[in-house]
Amino acid sequence: MPIEHRISVRVAVTLPVEGTYFYLVPSGLESKAQVGCRVEVPFGKRKVTGYILDRPASVEDRDLKEFTQVLDPEPLFHPSLVPFFQWMSEYYLYPLGRLIQSALPGGLNIRSYKAARLTAKGEDALRLLPGRSEERKLLTWVRDHPGQKAPSPLDRLYAFEKKGWLALEQRMTKRRGGPLLKRFVKPREGVEIEDLASQAPGALKAKNEWTFLETIFSSQGILTEELSSRFTNGAYLLRKWIKKGILATYQASVLRDPAGNVCLPNPPPKDLYPQQREALEVIKKQLFRGTFSTFLLHGVTGSGKTEVYYQAVRHVMDLGRQAILLIPEIALAIYMEGLLRSRLGDRLAVYHSGLSEGERYDQWMNIAKGEVPLVIGARSALFAPFPNLGLIIVDEEHDPAYKQEEGARYQARDAAVVRGKLANACVLLGSGTPSVQSYYNASRERYTLVTMPERVEQRPLPEVQVIDMKAFASEGKEEEILSPDLRDALEVAMASGKQAILFLNRRGFHRVHLCRSCGKPVRCPNCEVSLTYHLRENRLACHYCGFHSPPQTRCPACGRESLRSYGFGTERLESELKELYPGLRASRMDRDSLRKKSHTFELLRQFSRREIDVLVGTQMVTKGYDFPDVTLVGVIGADFSLGFPDFRAGERTFQLLSQVAGRAGRGEDPGRVIIQTFFPDHYAVTAARDHDYPAFFQKEIELRRQLGYPPFSYLACLRLQGNHKQKTEDMARNMVEQMIRVVGSWPKRGKDLQVLGPVEAPLSKLKGKYRWQIFIRSKGPNVLHVFLKKVGDKLKRMLRGSGVNLTIDIDPYQML
Ligand code: ADP
Ligand code: ZN
Repeated sequence: MPIEHRISVRVAVTLPVEGTYFYLVPSGLESKAQVGCRVEVPFGKRKVTGYILDRPASVEDRDLKEFTQVLDPEPLFHPSLVPFFQWMSEYYLYPLGRLIQSALPGGLNIRSYKAARLTAKGEDALRLLPGRSEERKLLTWVRDHPGQKAPSPLDRLYAFEKKGWLALEQRMTKRRGGPLLKRFVKPREGVEIEDLASQAPGALKAKNEWTFLETIFSSQGILTEELSSRFTNGAYLLRKWIKKGILATYQASVLRDPAGNVCLPNPPPKDLYPQQREALEVIKKQLFRGTFSTFLLHGVTGSGKTEVYYQAVRHVMDLGRQAILLIPEIALAIYMEGLLRSRLGDRLAVYHSGLSEGERYDQWMNIAKGEVPLVIGARSALFAPFPNLGLIIVDEEHDPAYKQEEGARYQARDAAVVRGKLANACVLLGSGTPSVQSYYNASRERYTLVTMPERVEQRPLPEVQVIDMKAFASEGKEEEILSPDLRDALEVAMASGKQAILFLNRRGFHRVHLCRSCGKPVRCPNCEVSLTYHLRENRLACHYCGFHSPPQTRCPACGRESLRSYGFGTERLESELKELYPGLRASRMDRDSLRKKSHTFELLRQFSRREIDVLVGTQMVTKGYDFPDVTLVGVIGADFSLGFPDFRAGERTFQLLSQVAGRAGRGEDPGRVIIQTFFPDHYAVTAARDHDYPAFFQKEIELRRQLGYPPFSYLACLRLQGNHKQKTEDMARNMVEQMIRVVGSWPKRGKDLQVLGPVEAPLSKLKGKYRWQIFIRSKGPNVLHVFLKKVGDKLKRMLRGSGVNLTIDIDPYQML
C-alpha cells in the first residue's frame, strides 16, 4: 500500500493541558481547515474544540486521528497572531487553547453535552417498569427527547447505559451570537420615483404616502423597523407598495454598534502645538520605517496626548496598517470612542467586556476581516486579530487595570510591547505619570522617551495645597471629612459657577462597624475583612465576596449592644455634601453607583453638560476625562494605600494624586487642588504637590534598587488557597521546602533565585478560602521561568487531592 500523504494541522485544544496536538484533515475539508478556524477534535473519549495554529507539510504518521469538523466558515484570527498567543501562554503559564478561548468573543464558545437515545432493549424495559417509578419517568423522557441535552445528574443515565437501555453520545451546541440580520426595504431595481406619477390617480391615498415613498427612494435602503417607527401606517404602506411591485425587501447584516450618543467632543484643533508636532515627528518617522520600536510619551495631564494618538493612528491608516488603542477602563474607552468616532466615523471598532456577546462577535469579525483600521478597547482588545498591525497605543500605561487578575493573569501593557515586537509594529505608551518600570526602561534607552512638559495653551498646572489631617485627629475631629480649607475652596468654586471633583478611595457610607465595648469590628464570615455600611441598601456589605447582612446593634464578639459606625466612604461624603449645601447638585461615581455601563456614560454626560456641580468618586474620577469647568479637586484620602504591604504603594499613591490633581484647571480658569493627608511629608505626596515626576522617580528607583524589587528583579507569586486552614499552611511550607531544595541543587543559577516565604496573605481569608503566599524572586526573567517549569510538575503532584489550589501570578500586582 502506498504511503498516504495527507495534510495535518496543529491544534491547541481548550483544555488545561500543555502543548499542542496534530490531527489529520478529513478528505474534502482541506480548503476549509485554515489557520485561525475552530475545529472539533477527538480527545481521549471526548470531543473538544480546538484552534488550528499551523498547517504543516504532509506527514506520514498514520496513527494520527482525524479531526471531526471545521466550525467556522472563516478564520477567527490571522496566522500572525499565533506566535503572540504562544508567547502569552508560555510567559504567563496558561494553557494555550484556554488563552485563545478567553481572547475570542464569548459568543463563539461552544459547549458540548450528552444526549441519550433509547435502545430496543430500553423500549422493552420501559414496558415492564412500574407505572410511577423514577426510572420509568427518566426513560420516558429519553424516549420523547431523542438527541436532546440530557438532564443532569448523569449518573443514572450511565447506569441505564450499562444495562443497555440507552445509548449516550457527546454533542456540541453552537451558541453563537452570529451576525444580526435585519430586514431592509428599497425601491425595486429600475424603478424611479418619477414612475410613480404614472400610477393610477388616487393610488396615493394616505396623507403621508408621498413622504413615505420619498423617504425610501432617497435612501440607500432603509430598515423596515425604522419605517414602522416613523410612520404609524408604515407596515400597511409597505405591504401595499411591495404588492404593486414598486418596493422590495431584503435581509442584510447590521453592525450592532454600541456607540450611543457620547459626550459632545471638542472640534478638532486646527494646528498642533510645537510639543505635539515634535512628538509626532519622532513617532511618524519610526512608523514609516515599519519596524518595531517602543516609545514612552510622558506628557503631563492636559498636554494634548489624545491628539498625538489620533494623528499617529491616521498615519498608520494611511500606510495601510491597523492600530489598537488600549484604554484602562471601559468608561474611559466609551469616552474616547465618542471623541474619535466624530472624526473617524465607522472606521473604528470597539472591543471590551461592556459589550454583549453578539456585539463582541460583530466587532471581532470586522477586525479579523480587516474592515476597520482601528480598535479601541480595554485589555482584551490587545488580542484584536488585525492582519497587518502597525501601532499599539497604551493610554495611561501606568494604570494597574492593565493587569488581568483572573484566568490568564497577564499585564496588557507588557504584552503589548511583545505583540508589537512580533508584529513589527510600533508601541506607544502614554502617561502623565509613567510606571516606574516604563520610565526605567526609557532611562536605559530600551524605550524612546518623548516628553510633552506643557499643558496646552500654556495653562498653568494647578496649585496644590497639602493639609495635614493629623492636626484634626488630635483635636478629636477624626470624623471630619472636609477640612475648613477645602470647604472654603468649594464655596468659592460654586459661587463662581465652576465644578469640582472630590476623590475618596473608599466606597460605602461608614467604613467599619466597631464595638465600643470589646473594640472588635464586625467582620465578613467568609473573609478576614470588616464589613462596610451602605446607606442606600441599609446593610453591611463585604467588598470582596459580596456578603451582606442587615445592620446590627449587638456585637457578634461580646454580645453587647454597643456597636457603632466609624469612618466614611463615598456614599457618606455625597450625603454630607448635600446636607451641608442644600441645592448643590452632587453625584457619586463608584462601583456601587454604576452597575451598568449606561449609567457611567449618563453621569459623564451630565457632568460635561454641567448638570452636576460636584462629582464624588473613587479612583474612577481620577481617570483622563477632560472637563474644562472643573477648577477644584479635593482629595479626601488617597494615602490610605500608603500603609499597604506592597512595594508599589508609593508609586500608586503618587499616580493617584497626580492624576486626580490633573483634572483641575483644564479650561481657561486656573485650577486648585487640595490634598488632605495623614502623611504630608511622604515623597509620593510632596512630589505630587510639586508636579515633580523626576523627583518622585529618583527616590522610588533608589528604594527599589536597595530592596531589590522590580525593575531590579523579577517576581512570581505562588498563591495557595484552601478550605482548611492548617492544610493550606502545611502545603505552603512543604512547597517552599521542595523549591529551596531545587534551588540548592543549582550551584550556578541558584544564586540568582530566592524563594521567599511562605507567609500568610495580608488578606488571610477571602470568600471562605485561607490564603498563603510564596514569592519567587530572580535576577532575570529567564531563570525564573526555567525554575517554574522545572518545579511545576512536582508542585502539581503535591497538590493532587489535597484540597489546596495554586495559582501562579507572573509579575504580580496584587500583594494582598
Ligand atoms: P491629555 O490626554 O494629555 O491629558 P488631552 O489630550 O485631553 O490631554 O488635551 C487637553 C485639551 O487640549 C483638550 O481639551 C484638547 O481638545 C485640547 N487640545 C489638544 N491639542 C490641541 C491643539 N493642538 N489645539 C487646541 N486644543 C488642543
Ligand atoms: Zn467577604
